[in-house]
Amino acid sequence: MKKDIQVFDNVLQLIGKTPLIKLNKMTKGFEGDFFAKVEAFNPGHSSKDRIALHIIEEAERKGLLSLGDTIIETTSGNTGFSIAMISIIKGYECILAVSSKSSPDKIDMLKSMGAQVYVCPANVKADDPRSYYEVAKRLHNEIKGSVYINQYFNQLNLDAHYHSTGPEIWEQTEGQITHLVACSGTGGTISGISKYLKEQNPEVKVIGVDAYGSVLKKYHETREFDEKEIYPYRIEGLGKNLIPTATDFDLIDKFVKVTDEESAHTAREISKTEGLFVGYTSGAAMQAIKQLNEEGEFKKGDKIVVIFPDHGSRYMSKVYSDKWMEDQGFFDSKTLISEKIQYI
Ligand code: PMP
Repeated sequence: MKKDIQVFDNVLQLIGKTPLIKLNKMTKGFEGDFFAKVEAFNPGHSSKDRIALHIIEEAERKGLLSLGDTIIETTSGNTGFSIAMISIIKGYECILAVSSKSSPDKIDMLKSMGAQVYVCPANVKADDPRSYYEVAKRLHNEIKGSVYINQYFNQLNLDAHYHSTGPEIWEQTEGQITHLVACSGTGGTISGISKYLKEQNPEVKVIGVDAYGSVLKKYHETREFDEKEIYPYRIEGLGKNLIPTATDFDLIDKFVKVTDEESAHTAREISKTEGLFVGYTSGAAMQAIKQLNEEGEFKKGDKIVVIFPDHGSRYMSKVYSDKWMEDQGFFDSKTLISEKIQYI
């Protein structure tokens, strides 16, 4: 197979058009054909490049941003990295308000990409003036011409996936997709893709993945916000303790919950069996597929697409650290990494 060798004007031209890769080992013996949309192939190594670019370019189209203006967001994760990368190319300042819980590695990564980082205490309420929400809001009010991305409450998040990821999947599966399985955080990914796919074929089944400790699944079933569902969990980027308006719950057929432990082991398994070095939520999405398979969700001839949102390199001190796994009580000799090393 010949691969195109192209030259690009800048790194932003590489956002989107990520590959769909067949899963061969993880789904051995399952009914149906399984394909992963591997978002780590974006230049910022996650699906968040798509929403950051779309939201920033919409602001430009509306005349809200000019050279040297400031873009603000509350995130230490993938969205922050994407905004920082895009700001470098387009000539904007980037301010990220992050929680003091964020790992030093993540903060260093954002600084390396030129972002101004405000580290805010994690143990204060959301309405405390020191919380990262309030700090971001204050800076947005103070800095003239600044744009606040606000991914959990911004319809353009969903819109980004409706215009890019959705059509790509439809085209890559030649319209044969029967199921989409995707993690839900802001819900932009699953809702945007679902909107596009269901417009093409209302029969496509869309399954969201949620964490134990998050309110999303219960809210989907009851349309009630149940505080009792909320407790701490470890997977970052999946589930939520509030209801994001970037999620369209009517476009999701059902939710599956996955555990921190099984998702972590499954992420390790994907790397070792498929050669795809993916993040924690990719493990969560794949874990959901295992559970759905057990429940008899899939049949022969089905074409199932799963979203792998980001790259494993962001989780070296977590999922890909045996010490971290052991500290969480996740020890399992079958997925150990450290025994692979020999010192000469
Ligand atoms: N996985 C990771 C690693 C993420 O950072 C996010 C975003 N919070 C998601 C999955 C979920 O994507 P979305 O926010 O579009 O629901």
